Amino acid sequence: MGSHADRPEPPEYAFDRFLWMMANAARWKCPTCGERPLFIPWYKVRSLQDWFMPLDGCPRCGYPYEREPGYFLLSIFAINYGAGALLGLFIYLVLDFWLRFPIWLVLTLTIIPMPIFNFFFARHSKAFFLAFDLFFDPHSGGDDDGDQRSDSPVPPPKRPGFEPIGKA
Ligand SMILES: [Zn+2]
Repeated sequence: MGSHADRPEPPEYAFDRFLWMMANAARWKCPTCGERPLFIPWYKVRSLQDWFMPLDGCPRCGYPYEREPGYFLLSIFAINYGAGALLGLFIYLVLDFWLRFPIWLVLTLTIIPMPIFNFFFARHSKAFFLAFDLFFDPHSGGDDDGDQRSDSPVPPPKRPGFEPIGKA
């Protein structure tokens, strides 16, 4: 089969493809074409929104990153907090059973890094979630609109206040 010259083709075998998608996710790249970044580059981040929210879709292959509103909530709970909890547990075990720090110090050193970790891991958790979701629930080509993100109906534009209220 001829592969496109201009883009790396996703690997054929499921396991290879899975690894390929995970590798893309770890580098914040599009799970479909593996090219464009999922997020605004870190040096252009000006707000929390910039940091946490992915782009609307891949500028290259057009894959919509957020399939529906609230799509990424699950990624926060399932991946980010899960990974944070594992990290906290690991730190706790090391400090308590290996280094035998006093309990107040163990708790301080366990609890403080977790929100920091969650903050910096938020992008990865979204990227991995996107890749997992696409792998286990792949989109079928472009001919099926059922799964496409449907934009909510645009509210009618506000009418300018031409009609004064209460005028007889
Ligand atoms: Zn793409």
